[in-house]
Amino acid sequence: MNVVIIGAGIIGASIAYHLSKLGLNVTLLERNPNPAMGSTAKSAAGIRHQFSHIQNIKMSQYSAKEYANFEQLTGRSANYRKHGYLFLIDKNLEKDWQKQMKLQRSLGVELEYLSANETKKRFAYINTEGLVGSSLGHDDGIVEPNAITFGYIKAAKALGARLFLDTEVLSLNYKNNQWQIKSKKQDFIADAIINAAGPNAANIAKMANLNIPVLPYRRNIYITGPIKDFKHPSPLIIDMTTGVYLRSEGERIIFGLSNHDEIAAFNETVDWDWLEHNLSLALPRFPFLNHAGLDYKSCWAGLYAITPDHFPILGKMPNSSFYNAVGFSGHGVQHAAAVGKILAEEVTKNTVTSFDINDFRFERFSRKKQIYEHNIV
Ligand SMILES: Cc1cc2nc3c(=O)[nH]c(=O)nc-3n(C[C@H](O)[C@H](O)[C@H](O)COP(=O)(O)OP(=O)(O)OC[C@H]3O[C@@H](n4cnc5c(N)ncnc54)[C@H](O)[C@@H]3O)c2cc1C
Repeated sequence: MNVVIIGAGIIGASIAYHLSKLGLNVTLLERNPNPAMGSTAKSAAGIRHQFSHIQNIKMSQYSAKEYANFEQLTGRSANYRKHGYLFLIDKNLEKDWQKQMKLQRSLGVELEYLSANETKKRFAYINTEGLVGSSLGHDDGIVEPNAITFGYIKAAKALGARLFLDTEVLSLNYKNNQWQIKSKKQDFIADAIINAAGPNAANIAKMANLNIPVLPYRRNIYITGPIKDFKHPSPLIIDMTTGVYLRSEGERIIFGLSNHDEIAAFNETVDWDWLEHNLSLALPRFPFLNHAGLDYKSCWAGLYAITPDHFPILGKMPNSSFYNAVGFSGHGVQHAAAVGKILAEEVTKNTVTSFDINDFRFERFSRKKQIYEHNIV
């Protein structure tokens, strides 16, 4: 079976590896001169297990395990550092949070719940006013998304996969039971197409006359200069009251806040007006930021690929040999390993057994009852 994957970000790379391992003929097409130049290069690189949806937790567990053994698997280290994720919880969230922690712990997630006082003792730089507590995930942390992408590609190539760079896909045509793919460079044919085009996913689907609800939204990351008198590395801390997050990056702090009123667009210029709003919410909780200068030149913005319910679209489109692995919001890095496994099962067995992906299939959009992940940042 010949499979063409469109997009060599962390998702396309993982799928290429997992499919090649099963012996399929895999071709990976990327429009940029190198892999991992899209959202993958722009992420905060976080990996966490603190989700409300059981399959999101399981996908993090699967991926964390694979990233921990990544060097054995691919020859490259994922540089997985378990610095933790610390979620700051207020009274309004407490009940839901306790319920979520129960679910996470029942799956074997290592979590510590700290009262507001204990949070203050451990993390003196946080203003804990208004908090009831926090939860610290011991297996949460950060990885290196580019290293993972290149590792998967190296391992996939060793198994026979082919990578074509500077190869923008321009059109898709299904004829005589095969896909004809026109690119800027050359034409390809395939039995199956996998859409792993990140924020550009809806445009790829359109080429196959399919409509999928995935839109590109800008997300900014601001970075301070070095802060010497700080106990680095901090966990990735998320203030659930405001949505502000931060973590150490070497001796610096990166921080951000999603703008949920942002209009969908392919816009990757840093939003400096948003910085003011971000700081107005960040400073009361993290007063030490007041004394940290901003490294304006190093701030960046990238794109989230977002669906209406913030869950990805995974698997085969109805009555088609067109597959999606798209719409990962801020979770594509931490779920990429699991997504590779899921798509490999779906393509080869026409079903997925290692995860229950019913809430992630395209068909869910025609259901009456919609479900949501509670912990979207
Ligand atoms: C600011 C920010 C912070 C984030 N933080 C985190 C985090 O902490 N943890 C986490 O897990 N995730 C995080 N994410 C999300 C994560 O980065 C994405 O979910 C993930 O990188 C998606 O990978 P991808 O391979 O689907 O997309 P991409 O990396 O965008 O790859 C898609 C590829 O498809 C290619 N492509 C598109 N169209 C075509 C075409 N026509 N022909 C050929 N190639 C094409 C693109 O060039 C691109 O290389 C963050 C994202 C942003 C922007």
